[in-house]
Amino acid sequence: MGDYAKALGNKLRAIRQQQGLSLHGVEQKSGGRWKAVVVGSYERGDRAVTVQKLAELADFYGVPVAELLPEGRVPSTAEPATKVVINLERLQQLPAEKVGPLARYAATIQSQRGDYNGKVLSIRTEDLRSLAIIYDMSPGELTEQLIDWGVLPPEARPSHEE
Ligand code: C2E
Ligand code: C2E
Repeated sequence: MGDYAKALGNKLRAIRQQQGLSLHGVEQKSGGRWKAVVVGSYERGDRAVTVQKLAELADFYGVPVAELLPEGRVPSTAEPATKVVINLERLQQLPAEKVGPLARYAATIQSQRGDYNGKVLSIRTEDLRSLAIIYDMSPGELTEQLIDWGVLPPEARPSHEE
């Protein structure tokens, strides 16, 4: 078994231990669905786990399946923007299925301010955090995505500040 299986096994063990379960505890709690020896062999990386089984295990532990993958939750290296200046013209050109939530957010802020003059809209950095939750990304990842769409300028990357 390769390093990946070992890393996956370590993740599985860590999640189980976080939940205060022994291998036998898993067997008991699952009503025998997950045998202690089988889960133990997944955790040691001795036995390959299928995607189907992994999804079921994630469901059993009540965690998103990505949490069980070795790369899961590796903190993104992307840093969130410290100044969020949205290009409103660019925003309008992009398809709604991509930018819908952001466009509605920006429209709401414009309406709250009663400000429809600008080609750009500065919003609070804490709004970026709220938007990141809506987009299911980290604030840093959303920053990268917005730069990619041309909604934020590349200078929005904090590393470009100095
Ligand atoms: P609020 O938070 O009670 O802010 C009241 C007023 O304080 C704002 O009226 C604005 O004149 C000023 N203000 C507050 N924070 C800032 C800031 O960081 N920079 C500047 N230049 N002025 C600031 P305004 O603009 O008419 O906004 C009315 C309300 O709309 C705000 O009440 C807030 O509830 C909401 N709002 C406006 N812009 C934003 C935004 O970017 N993000 C969020 N989350 N809410 C906003
Ligand atoms: P800004 O007006 O240059 O403000 C820069 C930062 O100073 C804000 O970052 C916030 O941390 C602080 N600040 C300024 N005014 C206030 C205030 O009245 N109350 C508080 N609690 N903090 C204030 P932030 O929040 O990330 O906002 C970034 C930019 O977004 C602001 O730059 C402004 O251009 C815009 N903005 C944010 N909120 C409002 C608002 O309520 N109304 C308007 N018109 N603009 C806003």
